[in-house]
Amino acid sequence: MAEENIYVTQPYLPPLEEFIPYMEQIWANKVLTNCGPFHQQLEQALCEYLGVPHIALFTNGTLALITALQALRVTGEVITTPYSFVATAHALLWQNCKPVFVDVEPRTLNLDPAKIEAAITPQTTAILPVHCYGNPCDTEAIQKIADNYNLRVIYDAAHAFGVEDAGGSILRHGDLSVLSFHATKVFNTFEGGAIICHDAKTKQRIDHLKNFGFVNETTVVAPGINAKMSEINAAFGLLQLQHMPHVLQRRAEIDAQYRKQLANVPGITCLPKGHQTVANHSYFPILVGPDYPLGRDALYEKLKAHGIYARRYFYPLIADFPMYRGLPSATRANLGHACYASDQVLCLPIYPKLEIHAQEKIINTIKDATWEC
Ligand SMILES: *Cc1c(COP(=O)(O)O)cnc(C)c1O
Repeated sequence: MAEENIYVTQPYLPPLEEFIPYMEQIWANKVLTNCGPFHQQLEQALCEYLGVPHIALFTNGTLALITALQALRVTGEVITTPYSFVATAHALLWQNCKPVFVDVEPRTLNLDPAKIEAAITPQTTAILPVHCYGNPCDTEAIQKIADNYNLRVIYDAAHAFGVEDAGGSILRHGDLSVLSFHATKVFNTFEGGAIICHDAKTKQRIDHLKNFGFVNETTVVAPGINAKMSEINAAFGLLQLQHMPHVLQRRAEIDAQYRKQLANVPGITCLPKGHQTVANHSYFPILVGPDYPLGRDALYEKLKAHGIYARRYFYPLIADFPMYRGLPSATRANLGHACYASDQVLCLPIYPKLEIHAQEKIINTIKDATWEC
């Protein structure tokens, strides 16, 4: 029997029979959307699970990012990272803001606070950092700069579900944080997303914006969008939440095994853990350096030839895509560490159902090249 392909991730799905009762409830009450009972229950359950005061659910993380910018009336220039999924910068273009790229720190691959100030102009109104791979940004340094220059901070926390630092959830940092519940993320609702905020007034504004700007039956206060999470997605999220301890435990085990087995492979560096006290192991990035016998792309192809589909997250850099590369901040000279990471990084498969023999195959395929050559 041919071995099955191994992909960088496999969405977690609880047993189908556990989901049937939720669907029966929806069929019985016929509330499909518009912030119905499951939507409300999931918002409350997530506030408790994540330890945050307010959360607004969305159809996906990208619309949540766009709405977060709109909610804070962010305009002009926004400082952000080139080393992310393209939706981070796209959200700025959708809001008619100009992305200003600043390089990342080589250790965390997160926005480098030491380089932010030089990029601030009179047009700058906000900073949009990403907790890349779920490793927390230097939130303290970023907040200090934001306070000094009166800038808003919105964290793209799409990778950071459940991550905590010494003070609690990292979603408490900044003005707003945005989550994605896409199929490929640690916690998925098929498609989904959320905004985390500090106060009830902001939560209310966000709730209006995700429902066309409606305040009541006859009053529309802003050009809002339709970005409400549906009842079926919210119900699925409630079920999914019950499985999170198992999901996180399996991810931690796979992470530990990679770190142990790859520790002494010449030229292979596992990205160091960040300063989080609770990690989510959402990705497993390695850097393929000059001491490894193959280049990053050659290793990627070699793995593929063995049915292992690792991913070059994030390659190309956002700054290299056609709608961004003309920006002055998009030049390679400005983004040295980001370019370097983008050319060296490979994200290895990590997901709860990754079997021991499959992980062994991945590790051995990486190790083999060191004595084949
Ligand atoms: C997944 C992701 C998004 C977009 O989320 P969707 O729910 O797919 O729209 C945004 N930013 C980052 C960093 C992501 O990884």
